Amino acid sequence: MLVFEDILSLKKHLRGAKTPIGFVPTMGALHKGHVSLIEKAKAETGTVVCSIFVNPTQFNDPKDLEKYPRTLDADKKMLIDAGCDVLFVPSVDEVYPKQQQQSHLAVDLGNLEKVMESAQRPGHFKGVIQVVSRLFDIVEPDKSYFGQKDFQQLAVIREMVRQMEYKTEIISCPIIREADGLAMSSRNVRLSPEERKIAPLIFKTLSEVKKNSQDVRIKSQDLIDYASKQIKSCKEMTLEYFEIADAKTLLPVKSLSDAVEVVACIAVKLGQIRLIDNIILK
Ligand code: AMP
Repeated sequence: MLVFEDILSLKKHLRGAKTPIGFVPTMGALHKGHVSLIEKAKAETGTVVCSIFVNPTQFNDPKDLEKYPRTLDADKKMLIDAGCDVLFVPSVDEVYPKQQQQSHLAVDLGNLEKVMESAQRPGHFKGVIQVVSRLFDIVEPDKSYFGQKDFQQLAVIREMVRQMEYKTEIISCPIIREADGLAMSSRNVRLSPEERKIAPLIFKTLSEVKKNSQDVRIKSQDLIDYASKQIKSCKEMTLEYFEIADAKTLLPVKSLSDAVEVVACIAVKLGQIRLIDNIILK
């Protein structure tokens, strides 16, 4: 695996690389969820590029940015084992040179900028669009791989690609979970042993919601009430939101029959750690 820290050498290498180019943007602290994206890219493309960049502009909480886990040596080993061809690890100055134009500001997210993660983390998706558009300009990937774990992010990226007319194909990849159901996340290592034991309640709640949603008479509000009660029964958890939404627009639906595809999305604060998860209901 070749490692690049600067844009010029990366671009020079990619000009002669085997196509199609597959791209997996990450913030590092890699786990099996990230590896699944690399492996899918490896199976479908000629050259796999992974980026590791903890993007300061998408953190609305400075403490979260400061405490974000950084494990570059272990990450490199994992990427080599997964067959990654190229790792791009730029500095903040490399990604955001002083006079750079802010083309990402042209993207209008509409309702995606108002619901769920956007409501809880103001400015977060502006930062995501800024970094992903910059990385797309640098890597010029044919296919780009994103996890369904960040369901709203995937919708935002698709909208960005549409509006900014990127040529890259967006591939969504299923959520990889621990044996007890907890969705893998770089933030899980920051949970205390006690919190880690409690955390699977999130997926347990989502799974029960999915089961209950099979009853055609059930309304979204019943599912929301059920999930809220489950999470509130655990005193260590605070529910930030639980939404039953149209999987395309991410707007809330009153009943499952109101959309072709419906998703349940949840965000929970467990101690100091914020965890998100989701499940497709239909
Ligand atoms: P991050 O490093 O958290 O920015 O994540 C980089 C990419 O990995 C994003 O596209 C995430 O959606 C994806 N990802 C993170 N966790 C998982 C998981 N448990 N399963 C599948 N994909 C994931």
